[in-house]
Amino acid sequence: MVDPEDLAGLLADPYRVACPNGHTALKPAATTPSAYCRSCRESYHARELVDRRIDSCKPYRNGKG
Ligand SMILES: [Zn+2]
Repeated sequence: MVDPEDLAGLLADPYRVACPNGHTALKPAATTPSAYCRSCRESYHARELVDRRIDSCKPYRNGKG
């Protein structure tokens, strides 16, 4: 999920934001906090998009038990 207020800034970073299907070919919308995915040919609201930085910071577990 991306905060609508942050979307424009995050989309300035080409591979930062992904659509729900993992594509990064996103084009920001001019008037709404959403982006168009050229791969899906769909528009997604900021809250449907994925901030890959957060996604890569999943909590890890100590597998030893
Ligand atoms: Zn897509």
